[in-house]
Amino acid sequence: MAKKRKFATEAIHSGYEAVEHKNSLASPLYQTSTFVFETAEAGERRFAGEEEGFIYSRLGNPTVKVLEERIASLEGAEAGLAFGSGMAAVSAVLFGLVKAGDHILCSQGVYGCTFGLLHMMKEKFQVDHDLVSLDTKEQVESCLKENTALIYIETPINPTLKIIDLDMIVQVAKDRGIPVVVDNTFCTPYLQRPLELGCDIVIHSATKYIGGHGDVIAGLVAGKQEMISYLAKTTQKDIGGVISPFDAWLLIRGLKTLPIRMERHCENAGKIASLLKEHPKVERVFYPGDEAYPDYQIAQRQMKMPGGLISFEIKGNKKSAQRFLNDLSLIKIAVSLGDAETLIQHPATMTHAVVPEENRAKMGITENMIRLSLGLEEWEDIWDDLKEALDKVAE
Ligand SMILES: *Cc1c(COP(=O)(O)O)cnc(C)c1O
Repeated sequence: MAKKRKFATEAIHSGYEAVEHKNSLASPLYQTSTFVFETAEAGERRFAGEEEGFIYSRLGNPTVKVLEERIASLEGAEAGLAFGSGMAAVSAVLFGLVKAGDHILCSQGVYGCTFGLLHMMKEKFQVDHDLVSLDTKEQVESCLKENTALIYIETPINPTLKIIDLDMIVQVAKDRGIPVVVDNTFCTPYLQRPLELGCDIVIHSATKYIGGHGDVIAGLVAGKQEMISYLAKTTQKDIGGVISPFDAWLLIRGLKTLPIRMERHCENAGKIASLLKEHPKVERVFYPGDEAYPDYQIAQRQMKMPGGLISFEIKGNKKSAQRFLNDLSLIKIAVSLGDAETLIQHPATMTHAVVPEENRAKMGITENMIRLSLGLEEWEDIWDDLKEALDKVAE
């Protein structure tokens, strides 16, 4: 294999050889459901696994294959797998790795639908879980059970941007041979590569930064070849949450600019976070790049840059937060993140509305908290919009 190249180069080239595709510079879109066998015997050989080649697009597709090899390369993984949504990826991993009677140890905050899925698994399939803050080695150890089959982590956690120390988790998990799964959506491999720290599986909602243009719903998984092959042959193939070739094509395109986009998202977040901190109508800012932020040191250690998201509490209550959102004009009120457009949302009534109030309180989600996903616009324009609406917030 060729020498491993730098990230930005791999983001453009890995997994694709033009000579294998009639010298097309851009990776072609193979928008097909099935593939033609030259003879009946060739079909037999492909099904028997004796001959390389595509059969049917739920089992594999050349466009999707480029994407899978590219995410594997960027995450430093042996193999990758693409799905029709982030949740298709999450569910394929969870159903693939646990069985009835198992226990999953999770970070206190997980994506709302992951939370829903964990509850369904508990009620219908006897897979138990605990949501824990995972602050220290001792605490993680004390939460592991005989039947803990998986540690499932999001870091930074949505929307408080609390950071989990992956090094510490890996130390505890490795001793006991428990696989560690990380939802790396908020960081992308450009900012954080959990597999290099010893974690076992990385999941992405590629809908966010990886697609980057707000036009695709998709998911990705990366890890060891054996694990990925197992998921491909079981929960991906038989549950069937595969990606469409067109969406894979859009993600291949999106990944080419991931490094430069992430730089800009992060740069904008840094500038806006420091301005928000100084504004008299802002009570508190949650941003891992702020030296005063409790998890600042861990963030510095495990993330290349502090990310493109900021949460903050404005003075007042739910009504004040809603009025503030309504007073914005450039910044759009929408859930999702990682797009070219700056997006803002109110976690207590939107992304985390399904989370029971008691859990929200434990996670530190208040009714005056707002989450901001910095886009790629000029930061001055983003700030002008925020400032105008903030100035109108009543004391
Ligand atoms: C959006 C998101 C998901 C779910 O992904 P979809 O593509 O919407 O299915 C999972 N985890 C995190 C952290 C997310 O932000």
